[in-house]
Amino acid sequence: RDVVSPLPEVDETDIEASLRPKHLSEFVGQPKVREQLQVVLESALRRNRPPDHVLLSGPPGLGKTSLAMIIAAELGAPFRLTSGPAIERAGDLAALLTSLTEGEVLFIDEIHRIARPAEELLYMAMEDFRVDIIVGKGPGATAIPLELAPFTLVGATTRAGLLTGPLRDRFGFTAHMDFYDTDELEHVLTRSAQLLGVSVTGDGAAEIASRSRGTPRIANRLLRRVRDFAEVRADGVVTSQVAHDALAVYDVDELGLDRLDKAVLDALVRRFGGGPVGVSTLAVAVGEEIETVEEVAEPFLVRAGLLARTPRGRVATPAAWHHLGLTPPSSPSA
Ligand code: ATP
Repeated sequence: RDVVSPLPEVDETDIEASLRPKHLSEFVGQPKVREQLQVVLESALRRNRPPDHVLLSGPPGLGKTSLAMIIAAELGAPFRLTSGPAIERAGDLAALLTSLTEGEVLFIDEIHRIARPAEELLYMAMEDFRVDIIVGKGPGATAIPLELAPFTLVGATTRAGLLTGPLRDRFGFTAHMDFYDTDELEHVLTRSAQLLGVSVTGDGAAEIASRSRGTPRIANRLLRRVRDFAEVRADGVVTSQVAHDALAVYDVDELGLDRLDKAVLDALVRRFGGGPVGVSTLAVAVGEEIETVEEVAEPFLVRAGLLARTPRGRVATPAAWHHLGLTPPSSPSA
């Protein structure tokens, strides 16, 4: 995987854990989400009741897992983590739910990928803190109701629209996480540099921030790569020149576009004349799942003003042509 992928690298778990903000006050950016969440948590604490279930939506690497852990920490509650694809059968979920303690925060990442029978079990669990365990098969099957300890579900998804209506409706609070701006990423980088004991100048942090694709996970990763470069090729201090030279060595695009972003733009412009082209055709052209193109690459390309989603299909903007070093056609199809 390339250095600016928003998805985690295999060996990145420990380092990410050490850089995670632990409290809401340390969580950089997303001011609206932070403020709303603070009210939800504070009122739950005052009423001494678990808060409503929370849905966090947004592209990978923007801090959904961190925020879920913060929710538990702020409530002083235990935290349990699982993911939609890990819950294959309703029985797996029933076992998990019945083992939760009062007030526990259950985090289900990629909740839109949970198997349907498990999802149906989740409805009742979320609404009434109860599950029906089915014993036996066919006409003789009986449902044994089991009470659950009141818990808070925090679900994460790359897009809330991927959830079925009944599941979405059972969340009392939905927060949409958006890409971070450069100032916010600079702040993330300064904080991480302190934790890692790396000296970085303001300009150095700004240079890394502007190429981090709006994503804290990428910012933190680039910081570590630039630090390595600074130690080997300079005096260890990350200045803007050092950051610039290091990122050139690692082939990081000025906008932080990763290989998939670039492949999508390249196909759109060079193979389909700038579009419009359907997302499924585009996905085939870059050899990826439609979902990956839609959930991982497109949100940032749209945000960066390089791609437009139109009713007729995806269209490259003039900025996309320029980014590839090409001249857009005189009457762009956008
Ligand atoms: P995924 O959905 O791919 O698991 P995610 O949205 O859950 O991604 P996290 O794992 O929470 O993202 O965050 C990735 C990294 O970015 C973590 O190491 C975390 O320290 C850092 N990070 C994310 N958001 C923030 C933030 N607001 N402030 C400081 N650091 C952050």
